[in-house]
Amino acid sequence: MRLLLHICCGPCSLYPLSRLRRDGLEPVGYFFNPNIHPYMEFERRVNALREVAKEFDLLVKWQADYGLREWMDVMGTACLPEDRCPKCYRMRLEATAREAVDGGFDAFSSTLLYSRYQQHDKIRKVGKEVASRFKIDFFYEDFRKGWVEGIEMARELGIYRQPYCGCIFSEAERYLKRAHRLGNLLRSGDGPGA
Ligand code: SF4
Repeated sequence: MRLLLHICCGPCSLYPLSRLRRDGLEPVGYFFNPNIHPYMEFERRVNALREVAKEFDLLVKWQADYGLREWMDVMGTACLPEDRCPKCYRMRLEATAREAVDGGFDAFSSTLLYSRYQQHDKIRKVGKEVASRFKIDFFYEDFRKGWVEGIEMARELGIYRQPYCGCIFSEAERYLKRAHRLGNLLRSGDGPGA
C-alpha cells in the first residue's frame, strides 16, 4: 500500500513511522501545517522534521510556506478548541487527501493520531469524512499506544519538542493555564493586552 502520512511535527512522527515500518509499510511524509505560529516556531518545527527525515531516511513532501493568513481565513471566528480544532484537522487532512490522490497513493493518514493532547475521535471522524469525499482510504490506527516510546525516541535523538500544539490560541492556553476562561476573555474583548 502506498501511504501518504501527514506529519504535524518531528517528534510526533517517530512512533508512527517506526510502527508502520515494523509492518512493512514505507510511508511518504507530507508536511502541511499552517496552524503553527509564530514564524520562528514554525521554522523550528520544520527544522526538527528535517532532522528526523535525515536520520530515518524518510521522503517528505513539503508545503513549507508559512500559512498564517490562509489558516486564519479558514478559522474565521472559531476561537475555542471545540470549534477551531476540527476545522484545523479538516484543513490539513483535506490538503493531505488531495496530495495523496494527485500523487497516486492508496491511502493517507496523520501523525495527529499519535498525540494524547489532540481530540482523537474528531481526527478519526474528520479523516473518514475527508476520505469519503476524496474517494481514497483513510488509514486509521491509534498511535497513542506508542506515546512513551515516541517521547523516548525524541529524547534520544535530541530533537526539538514543542511545548504547545501550534496556533496562538494553544500557545496562550498552554502558558496561561486558563483555557476555560480564554474564550470568554477573547469574546468580551477584555483579554490580556486589550
Ligand atoms: S490547538 Fe492545535 S489542532 Fe487546535 S486549532 Fe490550534 S493548532 Fe489546530
